[in-house]
Amino acid sequence: MAITTAARVAVITGASSGIGEATARALAAEGYTVALLARRRDRISELATELGGGSIAVETDVTDRDSVLAAAARVRDELGRVDVLVNNAGVMLLGPFSAERHEDYRRMIETNLLGAITATEVFLDQLTSDGGGDIITVSSVAGRSARPVNGVYAATKWGVNGWSESLRQQLLPDVRVTLVEPGAVKTDLPSHITDEQTRKTTEEMYAGVEVTPEDIAEVIVFAVTRPRHVAVHEILVRPAGQA
Ligand code: NDP
Repeated sequence: MAITTAARVAVITGASSGIGEATARALAAEGYTVALLARRRDRISELATELGGGSIAVETDVTDRDSVLAAAARVRDELGRVDVLVNNAGVMLLGPFSAERHEDYRRMIETNLLGAITATEVFLDQLTSDGGGDIITVSSVAGRSARPVNGVYAATKWGVNGWSESLRQQLLPDVRVTLVEPGAVKTDLPSHITDEQTRKTTEEMYAGVEVTPEDIAEVIVFAVTRPRHVAVHEILVRPAGQA
């Protein structure tokens, strides 16, 4: 039988680094019990131990629906409820559009777009079972504009935005659906870029970025802690100097 925790529960995908990790810390500081989902088990296990309060680490690959189903079963059994789902897992594999990078395109679509859709459909019954909750999806400025090197990344984020708006209308008023659209945030995101020239340029650009994962985590906490009659649907956060 599922254990029901008294604390509110947040499920965060991509909780092993960057924005997801900072959001886990920020929500734990607000009293949430956090389910940390990501592939790097060591990192989420350490974080769960550090956060305490019943938080759990669940090794999960959002591109594998069976893995997400297994994560949802563990959350149901061990935490017994879900109040907040943060769809944050993502990869940004920038580079000029080319057949050489077809695997990057599949990976971005399967992680950023289908991964968020899968986590949401799998966790939806737990989110609605207790009368309502919050779905936060981390999109991007690239969900509103595009540049020559980010076409498929932008496509995943534009896709997330369209899907999220439809979901918002379907689930209101009980489940609040929120899009968070950061500009550049200082994280390891560019380190996975496979096109060497683009990776160098992007890492150089990111070295000067002042917006931190904690800045974005604060915005997420703001959205989920509004009174239930207030829904913050979209938050665009750029570094003050970003055009
Ligand atoms: P990080 O690289 O630090 O974090 C990405 C997270 O996604 C990691 O925890 C990683 O965990 C997880 N992840 C990647 N693939 C999978 C997968 N298949 N299954 C489960 N988890 C996965 O970068 P950020 O914190 O910057 O990125 C978080 C989100 O923020 C992304 O959606 C990104 O697009 C978005 N964003 C970031 C911006 C930035 O400038 N940094 C700007 C705008 C949006 P693991 O490898 O352990 O699985």
